[in-house]
Amino acid sequence: MRKRLFIGLLVISLFFLLLLFAGAWWLVSYRGLVINKIILTFITAAVVFLLFMLVTGLAAMVWSLWRARTIPLLHNIMLSATNMLFPLAIAIGKGLGLSEDRVKNSFINVSNHLVRGRDYARPFKNIIILAPHCLQWVYCPHKITIDVHNCRECGRCPVSTLLKIARRYDVQLRVVTGGTFARKVVRDVKPEAIVAIACERDLTSGIQDIAGLPVIGIVNERPEGPCFNTKVDYGKVEEAIQFFLKGGLR
Ligand code: SF4
Repeated sequence: MRKRLFIGLLVISLFFLLLLFAGAWWLVSYRGLVINKIILTFITAAVVFLLFMLVTGLAAMVWSLWRARTIPLLHNIMLSATNMLFPLAIAIGKGLGLSEDRVKNSFINVSNHLVRGRDYARPFKNIIILAPHCLQWVYCPHKITIDVHNCRECGRCPVSTLLKIARRYDVQLRVVTGGTFARKVVRDVKPEAIVAIACERDLTSGIQDIAGLPVIGIVNERPEGPCFNTKVDYGKVEEAIQFFLKGGLR
């Protein structure tokens, strides 16, 4: 059944592409017809509008990065332009021999810059630190993903220091095993702002998924390789919390 579903969807996709191709051929071959003129005008207008949105979004982003201040009115256009062009940027980066992580790291920096360029006009109260499970010492017997307070704060891994930071600033710390769990935590806790620690891949997809909420992403350090006894720069975590506590750029 599972295989048949996927094959069926592939066949429908192919059929859809053929239909699209036949439609384009018909429009171009009979462009003298009134109905075709109307459809072609509509399509051209939609493409021009899309290009206008992309150019506006990118121009606003470059301006924001240059002035270190974002334009609140154009924030959604900037995000949409980034999300639309992102897969293309990754593909071009790969073609140029750049690693996916490097391009994603740059995306996270741009996203952080846009978040940090905003004045949110009020201090955030409900802030959450989302940390990946790979920060925990790999032989630790305590289960901290259900309740991080199960950590005995022995100091063998960054979880103990993150708990101290969370207490110091009165924010929540949640340790998650992956993107799906992280999204569930965000749905349950409904934070106003997020300090997310993860690798480039998880941070990128998380930031794109949680569009609408201010997220500052901090890439974890992997001295022993990916997903294993990872570390984090505590200074960056504290800086991000302080930024949200004072309500952004003031
Ligand atoms: S600090 Fe907490 S999570 Fe880390 S090894 Fe010690 S008890 Fe385990």
